[in-house]
Amino acid sequence: MCGIVGYVGNKNCVPILINGLKRLEYRGYDSAGIGIVNHNSITIVKNKGKVSFLEEKVDKLDLESEIGLGHTRWATHGIPNELNAHPHANEDQTIFLIHNGIIENYQVLKKGLQSFGYEFKSETDSEVLVHLIDSFTKRGHDITKSVQLSLHEVEGTYGLAVISSKEPDKIIAARKGSPLVVGIGDNENFIASDVSAIISYTKQIVYLEDGEIAVIKKNEFTAKTAFDNEIEKEIHEISMTLDEIDRGGYAHFMLKEIMEQPESLRNSIRGRIIDEDGRAILGGLRDVVDKLADSKRIILAACGTSWHAGLVGEYMFEQFCRIPTEVEYASEFRYRNPVIEKEDTVFFISQSGETADTLAALKEAKIKGALVLGICNVVGSSIARETQAGVYTHAGPEIGVASTKAFTTQLTVLALISLLIARKKNLSKVDGQQIASELKLIPEKVEEILKLNLQIEKIAEEFKDASNFLYLGRGYNFPVALEGALKLKEISYIHAEGYPAAEMKHGPIALIDENMPVVFIAPKDSTYDKIVSNIQEVKARGGRIIAIITEEDEQLNKLVDYAIRIPSTIRMLMPILTVIPLQLLAYHIAVKKGLNVDQPRNLAKSVTVE
Ligand code: GLU
Repeated sequence: MCGIVGYVGNKNCVPILINGLKRLEYRGYDSAGIGIVNHNSITIVKNKGKVSFLEEKVDKLDLESEIGLGHTRWATHGIPNELNAHPHANEDQTIFLIHNGIIENYQVLKKGLQSFGYEFKSETDSEVLVHLIDSFTKRGHDITKSVQLSLHEVEGTYGLAVISSKEPDKIIAARKGSPLVVGIGDNENFIASDVSAIISYTKQIVYLEDGEIAVIKKNEFTAKTAFDNEIEKEIHEISMTLDEIDRGGYAHFMLKEIMEQPESLRNSIRGRIIDEDGRAILGGLRDVVDKLADSKRIILAACGTSWHAGLVGEYMFEQFCRIPTEVEYASEFRYRNPVIEKEDTVFFISQSGETADTLAALKEAKIKGALVLGICNVVGSSIARETQAGVYTHAGPEIGVASTKAFTTQLTVLALISLLIARKKNLSKVDGQQIASELKLIPEKVEEILKLNLQIEKIAEEFKDASNFLYLGRGYNFPVALEGALKLKEISYIHAEGYPAAEMKHGPIALIDENMPVVFIAPKDSTYDKIVSNIQEVKARGGRIIAIITEEDEQLNKLVDYAIRIPSTIRMLMPILTVIPLQLLAYHIAVKKGLNVDQPRNLAKSVTVE
């Protein structure tokens, strides 16, 4: 998920690798490392934390080599530390590799390799790759063939680069699901997970596709499929500026992260569903799942956007698991001396895993003897360490202060947890299968919704000067109304409120006139007729209406001023879809107001103070 850079040529690769890693820092990472070959022996230097720490270490060693690899890691398996940082090497210290992505079947592969005597040094999924490749070289294959044969056994995603000191003239690179490009130079070639790492050396870029394996030497570059067919690759001339490249070609991190959601959702779901049984498997909850399913009560404690995810979780857990569920602001929970029983389970939800209020609430729940679990994005973060078990969202690093992909992956994880518990309780296999198959379709549907970007930008133009907004939704989409309003507040500084639509008549309706835009989240579900009535009420008072509706809905399409039509799914998953247009709406309004979307005033990405 993070960064890869590689070099083969006539120059000393060490400064090239370090510069490349610095160029990749913007993507977020937790540790970094490089590996080089000199006189047929390999040297690996790695460090937790910043690339500058790695640089200091490297500088002291006075390294020189004409071939090498560099990596920034965003941990998915194993905490961020020096041991788990990449590159990883085989026992003989003749092969090393760097990997971005997730090897889903690493446990099965690891067991197999251990039975042949392979010893593992790290906790990563990636390390299986190097031993697997080693096992093929020991059977007489060259490094290229060994990588190819290994990848036949691997399930999951990878951007991968491998070097063998026995064939020190080449880098073997392969990709599936994680980006990888080759940079073509003069008597030198490069690889990178993203052109920004190498753009200062070459603008001639070859994009590798999923399933392709490339062999890169200083004067030669070949690509083939996993089954040995040679492929002709086109060389592209890059014209983007460095600044544009940094954000993956997008104007802001927030937009990049909104657009990345299909990929982050796929990563969040990957390997966690067993279709034929209609159930979920979550390795992180394996040891506590029975206790969790027997909980008398579930409490979801969080702050901000994560608290909204918790509200959706409440609907899911009560509908499918039939366990009474409450959602708490972590900041209130910690000061209230809450009633917590030993049979309760408390989930703490936080993107960074460092949110101070949530961490303090966690400590309190622990003292009271409840089962404490985490839902975090950052592996090895404080909440991940302090909880007894938990689930990572795998959204990848989120840099924009206003959370987007972290939210939708939190919803995904909550849906997976509901499926896991519900199947242990009353949910039938057929109903489980329906949830599982709908969940798998979500990333594609999000892709469809993202195509509405231009339409939403036009709506933003119409409304950018409004000073207030009201967001209304019912059931599962009530928390989405809160989240839509929060996104707008955070980045556009427009006052916005979210309400359950039925509450409108108990107060907020007094606010409605032609100056009050109202955003309705109104997919066709069991509350649809009621929400149509609410829309009529707003219309009768001259309010301007933007509505998120489902594709087939002609009635609301005619009734409202601006309809944003999105694909449908089952009710519990609808929030993952309905929130996307609201993220885009807030984003475009803020951009049109000329505001700093990625770093809104007064806000910090990870709130580590009370
Ligand atoms: N899954 C690997 C690990 O945890 C790679 C992570 C990454 O993409 O940076 O080490």
